[in-house]
Amino acid sequence: MTGHGADASAPPSPDRYLVGLIGEGITASLTPALHEGEARALGLDYEYRIFDLLELGRPAGDVGALLADARSAGFTAMNITHPCKQLVLDLVDELETDAAHLRAVNLVVFDGGRLRGYNTDWLGYRDGLVAGLPGASFRRGGQIGCGGAGAATAYALLSEGAERLDLFDADPRRADELAARMRSRFPTQVVTTLSPQQLPPAIAGASGIVHATPMGMLHHPGVAFDLDLLPPEAWVSDVVYRPLETELIREAARRGHPVLDGGRMAVGQACASLQIITGIQPDRDRMQRHFRGLISAEERSDTGKGGR
Ligand code: NAD
Repeated sequence: MTGHGADASAPPSPDRYLVGLIGEGITASLTPALHEGEARALGLDYEYRIFDLLELGRPAGDVGALLADARSAGFTAMNITHPCKQLVLDLVDELETDAAHLRAVNLVVFDGGRLRGYNTDWLGYRDGLVAGLPGASFRRGGQIGCGGAGAATAYALLSEGAERLDLFDADPRRADELAARMRSRFPTQVVTTLSPQQLPPAIAGASGIVHATPMGMLHHPGVAFDLDLLPPEAWVSDVVYRPLETELIREAARRGHPVLDGGRMAVGQACASLQIITGIQPDRDRMQRHFRGLISAEERSDTGKGGR
């Protein structure tokens, strides 16, 4: 398989879609409501179920058995999240090219007897970036945080033509490892890693900064870099979406920087998954409005504080 050419290779549409999510600590996930709400608006018979490994008392290594059970039970597809995205790489029959480069699968589609693995995290981030920061330059990006979300954002920025991407992580091995993978995938673009001393001048020279660490979540308050360093026209993107308005997003917007909150990526990956599963183009703006409503309701009722 090449690109994310799911449309050409998608299995025939079933009358009824049964989809699930496998991962740890996912009972508060908004993904079921997001998928089901949009599918309903599209007139589809679509059910989305959660398989929380912690609740089931199953180890991550059981993901293969859970996938086999789901296929037998007639599921159409399964989203995969932490800590199973790498484990699934060896379990699928076909791995879409970008998922292979990212070494992470967050969607498995059951196509008859075959399992197809996709990565919609990077697609979701890329689509959100393009829609949410119209006219922004992605020429020289800076990124703080090089874990799972950071791999997807780096891949998206380089796919969008960033000539240079400077990576920083509190754990330098994670930045080095991501940089090596991105250089082999994007050999004509410059990907560097930064020491703590190199971070301030890199921020000062960036067209935009992606923040991809857990800082800004309710239990990890704060901002991971000094906003005073940013050039006035630089955009700021956060992957954290609980809360939607992190301290970083609030302060960057107050200073006049174009901002992209983490909700864009969350909605984008759900939208891309739904499209691959059904072969139908969802209404991204409607999903965005739905998501914002769900987050607002969550924030009002004070639930989901620790959710990913
Ligand atoms: P992860 O643990 O895989 O990676 C986080 C990385 O950040 C690690 O490499 C860590 O060393 C680094 N880090 C932590 N604090 C740092 C700091 N102060 N400075 C520099 N580096 C630091 O986690 P992840 O799965 O990538 O998730 C990160 C955040 O992204 C979480 O808040 C998660 O909820 C969010 N997320 C959002 C989406 C979305 O759709 N918007 C998707 C996935 C994850």
